[in-house]
Amino acid sequence: MKLHEYQSKKIFDRYDVPIPKGRVANIASEAKQIAEELGGRVVIKSQVLVGGRGKAGGIRLAKDPNQAKELATEILGMEIKGLPVRKILVDEIVNIDQEIYLGIINDRNYRMPVVIASAAGGVDIEEVAEISPEKIYKLPIDPLLGLQDFQIRDIALGIDLPREYWKQFLKILRGLYLAFIENDATLAEINPLVTTKEKKMIALDAKMIIDDNSLFRHPDLMELKDLDVDAPAEIEAQKYGLSFIKLDGDIGCMVNGAGLAMATMDIISQFGGQPANFLDIGGGAGAPKVSAALRIILSDPKVKVILINIFGGITRCDEVAKGILVALRDVKTEIPVVVRLVGTNAEEGRSLLADQNIQTAETLVDAAKISVLLSNGGEK
Ligand code: GDP
Ligand code: MN
Repeated sequence: MKLHEYQSKKIFDRYDVPIPKGRVANIASEAKQIAEELGGRVVIKSQVLVGGRGKAGGIRLAKDPNQAKELATEILGMEIKGLPVRKILVDEIVNIDQEIYLGIINDRNYRMPVVIASAAGGVDIEEVAEISPEKIYKLPIDPLLGLQDFQIRDIALGIDLPREYWKQFLKILRGLYLAFIENDATLAEINPLVTTKEKKMIALDAKMIIDDNSLFRHPDLMELKDLDVDAPAEIEAQKYGLSFIKLDGDIGCMVNGAGLAMATMDIISQFGGQPANFLDIGGGAGAPKVSAALRIILSDPKVKVILINIFGGITRCDEVAKGILVALRDVKTEIPVVVRLVGTNAEEGRSLLADQNIQTAETLVDAAKISVLLSNGGEK
C-alpha cells in the first residue's frame, strides 16, 4: 500500500526526520489560509500516488496567499496520470541548496533492507541510476544488527556529503530506518532530501510503501488507504479476504490457491481466451466467500463466462459444490458457469452440480476449452 506524501511526512515527523511546515487541504480557500499562516510564500503539491508530479505540473510555487489559492484551484482540478487530485499539501518554501536522494528498500537480491543514497537527487533519480550508476551508493543493512552509525558515516562519505551536515544526516537516516522497520515498509524514500541556504537538512518529499501483508498489525495505517488507486472490486474483495486482481479479458476465474489460479489463467490464454481476473479464494472457502467471489466477478460487465477451478484437498469437493449452489441461488445470473472439480469427493461434487445444469469438466484443459468456446459466443 502506497502512502501519500503528506501521510509519509507525518510518519517521518514522528521519527524526528525534519519536514517543512505545512498542512494538507481539500479546497483552494484552505490553501490561502495555510499560506497566510506560513508567511505567504508556499509550495502547492498535488497528493496523488504517482511519481513525477513536478514534471506533470502538479507542484507549483506561490509567492503569496492569493496566488496560493489560484494555483490550488488549478491543481485541484487536475488529473495526473489518470488519478484525480483530491488533496493538496501546502508547505512552506524551502531555499534549496543541494538535492540528495535517500531511500531504503527491501532488496530481494540481498534479502535485506538496502539503503540507497545519491548526491544527484531530485526528479530524475531513475535516469541517474541508468546513465551514471556510479553516482548511486548502496549499502545492505543486516536487519538483526540494525543500522549502525559507522554505516551512516560510510554513506555520507559515499555521497560526498559536506561534514557540516553529518550530524543532521545521522539523525535523519536513523529516523528513516526506524520508520521503515517499525511500519513494515517495503520502501521509505526522501527525494529530494535537501540542504538549505540556512545549512539545514530537510525532507522535501516523502514516500512510503507499506507491506500489505503486515497491515493487520497496523490498523492505523490501513485507514490511510487511498481508494482511488485500487479498482472498487479489489477493495470489496479485500473485505472477504479474497486475493483479487482485475484484468481485461472476459473469462471470470474463481480458483483456490494462487499457483493454481495463475496456471488456470495461463491455460485459458493457451486456448485463445482472456482471463477477466485473477482470483484466489483460498483453502476451505465456504459458501459466503464463494458468493462474495461470484458477485465480485459478475460486477465486471465484460465477463461472459465464469470458470471455477477447485482442487479439493482438505476441502471436500461436495462441500465446495454446495457452496457454489448456495452462491448461485444468492447471486442469480444468466452467465454460464463452468466448474472443474478434482480431489476429495469430486464425483459427489460434480453430480450435485450436474443436476443444476452447470457445465462440469474433469480436467482443466476441458474446462478451459469449454470456457473459451462460450466466451466466443459458442455453444457447448
Ligand atoms: P515529485 O516530482 O513527485 O517527485 O515531487 P517533489 O516533491 O520531489 O518535488 C519536485 C521538485 O520540486 C523538487 O525536486 C524541487 O526541485 C521542487 N520543490 C519542491 N518543493 C520545493 C520547495 O519548497 N522549494 C523549492 N524551491 N522547490 C521545491
Ligand atoms: Mn520527489
